[in-house]
Amino acid sequence: MRLSIFARLIISYLVLFIMLAGISLYFIYHLSWMNEVTRSIILNDTSVFEYSNLLTDALLSEVRNDRKYVVLKDEELYGNYVQAKDEFAKLLNEAFARAASEEMKHFFYTIDVQHENFSRLVNEERELIRGANPYPEDKFATEKKNISDNIINQLKNIRQTSENNIFSKIVNLSESGDKIKNISVIISVIALSTGLIIAFIITRSIKKPLDVMRAKTVEISKGNFRGDLDVKSPPQIAELATAINTMCHRLQEVDDIKSDFFSHMSHELRTPLTSIKEGTAMLLDGLVGETSDKQQRILRIVVQESNRMIGLVNGLLDLGKMEAGMLKYQFIPTDLATLVKESLESLAPLAESKNISIDNKIAFLQPVKIDQERILQVLSNIIGNAIKFSYDDGRIKLQAHVHVDEGFVEVQVHDTGIGIPEKDLERIFQKFQQISGPTGEKIKGTGLGLATVKQIILAHGGKVWATSRIGQGSTFYFTLPLAV
Ligand code: ADP
Repeated sequence: MRLSIFARLIISYLVLFIMLAGISLYFIYHLSWMNEVTRSIILNDTSVFEYSNLLTDALLSEVRNDRKYVVLKDEELYGNYVQAKDEFAKLLNEAFARAASEEMKHFFYTIDVQHENFSRLVNEERELIRGANPYPEDKFATEKKNISDNIINQLKNIRQTSENNIFSKIVNLSESGDKIKNISVIISVIALSTGLIIAFIITRSIKKPLDVMRAKTVEISKGNFRGDLDVKSPPQIAELATAINTMCHRLQEVDDIKSDFFSHMSHELRTPLTSIKEGTAMLLDGLVGETSDKQQRILRIVVQESNRMIGLVNGLLDLGKMEAGMLKYQFIPTDLATLVKESLESLAPLAESKNISIDNKIAFLQPVKIDQERILQVLSNIIGNAIKFSYDDGRIKLQAHVHVDEGFVEVQVHDTGIGIPEKDLERIFQKFQQISGPTGEKIKGTGLGLATVKQIILAHGGKVWATSRIGQGSTFYFTLPLAV
């Protein structure tokens, strides 16, 4: 099953989201654990430590007051003792509540039992003192001392244990901090690389078929209409590939129709025109009988017009092929100067008929990579126009500049003819665009010459344009690629 682009993106975002959520949960869990440990250090261990100090002070005060009472037998001192004893009992209760471990609770429990014993001894001794009978004072003193020393030692133990607890928890915290740091680095690296890999795989699965299709469209633009795209891709792109294949089939069909049209039209239009021309020539030559002068004049007009029609049909078919990209060019390194001379030779009779001088400054150029026949067509169109649209006794000048760095030659054809209005300088390169002369007349032509020139120059990768001043003349420019 092929996943759609949407599903692929959603899956990748979901994977990234799950990874991020996992990392966050891991951190949240460990941070709350560290928080717990810190709280237990502050609330339990530290406060138990402080309570054991307070309990020691309270016990010492209790012992002191008891001793004073035994010596001075003053009830007020006994009252002080009771106060200290209550204080001790209260602190012991609070400390017991703060004890986090069973061990600690046990310590406090033992202290409580011993403290009870201590109180019992104090009460027994008090009864004996109040009875004013002799009693073993030393024995009581020793027993009480033993108990109080014992309690003080126990409290010392508690402090020691709390200290140890705090220390081991801090060490534990620091070790865990290090461990979390290391694990988080590892997890982040894994998550990032997994994210990158997933993003890469998904992007590639989308980009690869698009690249194939881009290459295909380049091929189509070059005229290869084979609909053979077969891409493994998400459905949306696969649909696009199918659409391109269908388009290729249609283009191929249209291309075939176009080819048929051109070969058909060439045959259908040229053959009768040639027959008309040939037949008329035979009549003119008297091969099928005598013709009067009047008939000869008419027959010459028919020959002339047939030639013009054949020219127009050829021009139209040529231009049609060029526009359809069906004309095959043969680019070969050529000396442009020789080609220009050849073209000028064929146009010389036309120039001479109007007494137009042609100053050709094109010589010794670097070779250009061109289709000779087509560039000859360009030259004869542009120079032919320069002659055609010049007044008698006009001047035409041909120049060329090589732009080595940019890799092209720029050819210029100046004339001193009728000129072209500024607004029409672009229009003249379109089919059938003929500009009226200064007196409003249209000079004979087909209106196809410059459109054909433009197609040929574009096919060479060049540019063609014109500048002009009405009544003073025009300059036509075109560029051609150098052969290197
Ligand atoms: P055409 O067969 O009419 O010459 P082109 O396409 O060669 O067709 O030229 C189109 C029009 O451009 C011409 O009819 C003319 O009006 C104008 N033109 C072309 N070259 C020149 C020029 N050298 N001087 C003045 N006008 C020109």
